[in-house]
Amino acid sequence: MLPLVYDEYIMAVLTPHQIENLQEQAKQSRGHLSHLIISDLLTTFHCDIETLLKTLLPVAASFSQAPISQFNVGAIAYDEKTGSAYLGANLEFTHQALNQAVHAEQAAINNAWLNGARSVSLIAITDAPCGHCRQFMNEIAGAESLRVLLPTQETDLKALLPSSFGPLDLGNSYRLLDSNTGNATSTSEALSLMLREQLSLAYAPYSKNAAAVEVVTVAHGTFYGRYAENAAYNPSLSPMQSALSQLALAGLTIDDVELESVTLVESKNGFNQKAVAQAVLDSYVADITLRHVLV
Ligand SMILES: [Zn+2]
Repeated sequence: MLPLVYDEYIMAVLTPHQIENLQEQAKQSRGHLSHLIISDLLTTFHCDIETLLKTLLPVAASFSQAPISQFNVGAIAYDEKTGSAYLGANLEFTHQALNQAVHAEQAAINNAWLNGARSVSLIAITDAPCGHCRQFMNEIAGAESLRVLLPTQETDLKALLPSSFGPLDLGNSYRLLDSNTGNATSTSEALSLMLREQLSLAYAPYSKNAAAVEVVTVAHGTFYGRYAENAAYNPSLSPMQSALSQLALAGLTIDDVELESVTLVESKNGFNQKAVAQAVLDSYVADITLRHVLV
């Protein structure tokens, strides 16, 4: 069982057995709780979605890997159109610049996006979102009406980020979670169909440097990550961080798995993700060969 944090919120509601089951379920689905699971939980607990998400926050936070701060954050993005929920947790990299870290809100939205969500209407978080995350959330489709649920307060992004700077300020009317623009994948190099698809779905409206990552493990399946840019640039999520966050939601780190291959694919004209991908991989013990493909 993963270490539990924030158990003061939930011990009255969830039994240890239920917690363990939920953690196991979340690990198997890499943090994606389908509408069937959510509706089953709503029936079991006789509660509304807000209460359920708050109840599940400690399960999300239990996937945190925070070796630097020891500050475990959990977030859950909820798509009311489909009834699905997506967990997220913070992920830090030792011996690397702090700005490489993935925040829990980014992880949850990244998880929703990778699972095909087209909207996130509500995000529950164990702590107030930092400025970086408020800006990251401002990039998604529907940010104007995004509700934010904290353990002791409900608010919305508009109130948390007044007079905001966003995609339209840079002339970009396309948003993260909108359907893709179909980035090109023309290359003679061998790439899996799935990696090509992930590249086509990357969100890079500012640099035009579409990028995606594929991590193939021997025994734990394949993980993908996509580049998600931000109008304020710095809160952008690199494709390697996006993929490693997915591993974290499966309860894994790179050092827990035997790797078959790690591939970063990006646009020929941009060529700017290799160094950051290598840097975060260097924070693990495993000696990893990064395959870099330009398309
Ligand atoms: Zn944050």
